[in-house]
Amino acid sequence: MGRAWIVRQLTGHTSTRSYTCPGCTHQIAPGNAHVVVWPDDGLGGVDDRRHWHHACWKARDQGRYGR
Ligand SMILES: [Zn+2]
Repeated sequence: MGRAWIVRQLTGHTSTRSYTCPGCTHQIAPGNAHVVVWPDDGLGGVDDRRHWHHACWKARDQGRYGR
């Protein structure tokens, strides 16, 4: 089922930026717990990282967002 992803859980305590979640296209506010993921193919770098809400990443896993 597509690419493998490395997933890291962030508590949000250290996040000072807001990110746009690719799942719902809403903002993840600074300080909010979320997950950061990137492709496990050795090709991507930091630029390939994506920040998701926990719920959106889980929903993606279950196929709600395609792929
Ligand atoms: Zn989201």
